[in-house]
Amino acid sequence: MPEYDSYDLIVAGGGTAGCLIASRIAEHGIHPQTGDRLRVALIEGGPYYIRGQAELRPGYGVPERRRAVVNINYQEFRAQPWPYDGHQNKMVGGCGLHWGGNAHLPFGEDYDHWRRESGVDWEEEKFQAAVDEISQVYNIRPSVAENMTLGNNLFRDAALAMGRQPKPSPMGRRNCINCGYCGSGHLCKYDSKGSSLYYIHQCEKHGVKIIPDAEIEKVIIEKQGGRAVARGVHYTQYGEYREARAPKVLVTCGAAGTPVLLMRSGYGPREVLGDRLIVENDNIGKHLDGDIGHGVDALFDIDIKDLHGGVERYDFTISQADLGYQGVQIRDSKMSAIDEAYPHVLALHSFAPQPGWEHKEYMRTVCSRLGSIAATVGAPIWDKGVVTPTGTHVYNRSHPGILKSLKEGTEFIVELYDRMAIRPIKVDATPPKRFTIEHQTSSCRAGESSKNSVVNSDFESHNVENLFVSSAAVIPCGNLSFAHIPVSVVAAYTWRRLVENHFSRGA
Ligand SMILES: Cc1cc2nc3c(=O)[nH]c(=O)nc-3n(C[C@H](O)[C@H](O)[C@H](O)COP(=O)(O)OP(=O)(O)OC[C@H]3O[C@@H](n4cnc5c(N)ncnc54)[C@H](O)[C@@H]3O)c2cc1C
Ligand code: SF4
Repeated sequence: MPEYDSYDLIVAGGGTAGCLIASRIAEHGIHPQTGDRLRVALIEGGPYYIRGQAELRPGYGVPERRRAVVNINYQEFRAQPWPYDGHQNKMVGGCGLHWGGNAHLPFGEDYDHWRRESGVDWEEEKFQAAVDEISQVYNIRPSVAENMTLGNNLFRDAALAMGRQPKPSPMGRRNCINCGYCGSGHLCKYDSKGSSLYYIHQCEKHGVKIIPDAEIEKVIIEKQGGRAVARGVHYTQYGEYREARAPKVLVTCGAAGTPVLLMRSGYGPREVLGDRLIVENDNIGKHLDGDIGHGVDALFDIDIKDLHGGVERYDFTISQADLGYQGVQIRDSKMSAIDEAYPHVLALHSFAPQPGWEHKEYMRTVCSRLGSIAATVGAPIWDKGVVTPTGTHVYNRSHPGILKSLKEGTEFIVELYDRMAIRPIKVDATPPKRFTIEHQTSSCRAGESSKNSVVNSDFESHNVENLFVSSAAVIPCGNLSFAHIPVSVVAAYTWRRLVENHFSRGA
């Protein structure tokens, strides 16, 4: 008896992309020779808190789950986080359970930027079926005008007065009671937020074997003559070292986890891996990109939102000609949502007076009087970041071009506050001196050859046979449409390409 488990496909990393692709391939794929249903394993380093067996009832939730996830914020799940930088949730469902809910489908320009960056053949028309799937599963709709707060409307009217066209930001929700806990990484206890939960449920329905609490140590890559072939994975579960084998392996460990895992497997840049190198690819861990932004906070002397306000918002995009970079987006990030406007955070805000009576008075009202408008630079051309073999993100946090854009964005927002019918009493107009990348992407990007990328436009490794990669890691550059929905759309495109090329009769 072999001392390993065998599958037809191993999906390494059970997050947003992993759950989606595993469930759909199990549903639609067949063994190319026998026509049998596929045995698919989904291996995830984190726990399986949010079981999906019960049918989803958006707007009601499931009593068991409702009790377990009373609006828990993503930071509260970080008892045993990955030792990597970046946005991540170590659990079955990954960031797909905790994303904020702002649901821009990829813009036309995103496809242009992806092709420009790495030569992928991705076009809007090719992605149509994937876009339709995600629009429907997430129920993507514009924010509802009647839920907009006074703060949202002040933003909208000031933007209009400046000749801009603010639009209600799209949200991915169904039967939402607008409890106000979206926006900043809360689980939805009513199962209303579009999330990985749907696909976890589909995994269970279509027989995917979910293996939680199982950190994958490496992908098994064997050399055969001049070829390198993926054979399976080694992982540790509950202290036991285990092996699983499959003729096809898909890595979906996100922007931080994917390059770390591939480098641990001996696949990466020669100068980094030295004598641990099995297969060389200089692009593994390179090109780290994502959303780069800055929020300009303001304090009003009247309530601009309810304490637990809505999560709707308006946003608009400024063209490249305005600020030097394409797609600087301005959004009223905290004019409505609870977001990070928690009392314990606001108590230490730069607007907060010294502790005393004045501070007490400030605390009485600040949750409903603090607003923030953010400028986000999407898809800039810059010397991007690197993910090291231990998951540290290294990049020039004071890149002058990006700081210049954020400074100009800050000035634009200050003017926008000034145009409001009710003006704030305080505005933090200080431009940032450093920035961080949020919603990271592109660390193992797709592209035309191994000279500039790790996988081809169909998600097949350029260098290792039977190895595929998807998740935020393959998106060629940061998006104008944030990350979650583009990652999901790319994942919905991935399963279609993999089924057609590898898991259909005669493939
Ligand atoms: C709090 C929060 C709020 C966000 N809000 C928004 C938003 O409003 N709009 C938006 O567009 N985007 C948002 N994002 C970003 C978006 O959710 C992510 O970019 C996207 O979900 C990433 O999907 P992924 O599949 O690439 O990675 P993930 O969902 O992170 O999945 C990767 C999975 O791989 C697992 N893994 C990694 N390494 C290993 C290993 N060695 N062994 C086993 N398992 C491993 C991880 O545990 C994880 O489950 C938010 C993210 C967070 C965390
Ligand atoms: S606002 Fe968000 S967290 Fe609250 S019910 Fe709606 S989808 Fe769920």
